[in-house]
Amino acid sequence: MPDITIPADVLPADGRFGSGPSKVRQEAVTSLADVAPQLLGTSHRRQAVRDQVRRVREGLGTFFDLPDGYEVALGNGGATLFWDIATHCLIQERSAHAVFGEFSAKFAAAVTATPFLADPVIVESAAGTHPTLTAVGGVDTYALTHCETSTGVAMPVVRPGEGLVLVDATSGAGGLPLDPAEVDAYYFSPQKAFASNGGLWLALLSPAAIARIDEVAATGRFVSAMLDLRIALDNSRQEQTYNTPSIATVFLMAEQLEWMNAQGGLAWAVKDCAAKSGYVYDWAEASDYATPFVADPGQRSNVVCTIDLDERVPAAEVNAVLRAHGVVDTEAYRTLGRNQLRIAVFPAIDAGDVQRLTAAIDYIAAALDASRAATA
Ligand SMILES: *Cc1c(COP(=O)(O)O)cnc(C)c1O
Repeated sequence: MPDITIPADVLPADGRFGSGPSKVRQEAVTSLADVAPQLLGTSHRRQAVRDQVRRVREGLGTFFDLPDGYEVALGNGGATLFWDIATHCLIQERSAHAVFGEFSAKFAAAVTATPFLADPVIVESAAGTHPTLTAVGGVDTYALTHCETSTGVAMPVVRPGEGLVLVDATSGAGGLPLDPAEVDAYYFSPQKAFASNGGLWLALLSPAAIARIDEVAATGRFVSAMLDLRIALDNSRQEQTYNTPSIATVFLMAEQLEWMNAQGGLAWAVKDCAAKSGYVYDWAEASDYATPFVADPGQRSNVVCTIDLDERVPAAEVNAVLRAHGVVDTEAYRTLGRNQLRIAVFPAIDAGDVQRLTAAIDYIAAALDASRAATA
């Protein structure tokens, strides 16, 4: 690793820029410590914990300004489990998928592997872009991904055609704009923009999605209990999960939602993330060694920024120096294989820290240049 010391004035106060798990606000952790004796280690079927589930469900309803009839469901297993829930309880026969990175590809692969569903229609585009999904005949479900966390591409969430619209919003939810009328299941995990820990899935369900659960069940398809969205929804309505959740995760998410709602809710979060990501993209465009990976500015994510580096500035060295200073998880997605940094700017991440991070990267790049010149 290059021997480089980042000056204190350009060192972020908080070094967590990971795209998930992502920074958890220390204020929320302190609140958790305060309530821990009454909450942690108590029954999830009792009022104290159910109050926290209620805070999360109501907090999401407020944050997304959910229309009448939409409900918030949650359960254990994370967004990854929700893919299996969708294959068992929401897709009737055939789905169509926008595939443009690791996460969207995984859901499409899960559907392809499901023996009782027809092979899905897959509309794919190269890494760093998103495809456009339009109406497809014979399809009852459309699968979109709000932000492809593996590439830093965001796509608009609009209905492609008739049928349910399922949106993997795991990193997009809480930082990208949403009109709930455009979605039937908008699902995510708490460890990204909602600044909590992993292990849960949450879903905003439309009346059509809720009706679909029964329509699919009426066909006689077997669904094991953990994948049964009806069971999850019935439990959610009672402010609980089917099996035991991480109570700390639920509490941290409730705290984050309360904080985000106090700042101004989704409208505030969208503006805040756009300002921070705009700063990162402008910095990269002005730089002589960094470039936004996503060529079309309209497809760049406002929550996960992917920045390619010139080969004379190896990302592995930049990341190693950053990590040695406590600035962590700026690595590109594992399988993307690019000389790239990936920087999350979720609502919990401080704008000043984002500015210091780019200055720290400039400092490292200049120091690498200088040491190369000295050895040449
Ligand atoms: C992180 C992520 C997932 C996986 O979330 P888990 O909580 O690990 O299941 C799925 N989709 C997207 C877009 C993600 O960013």
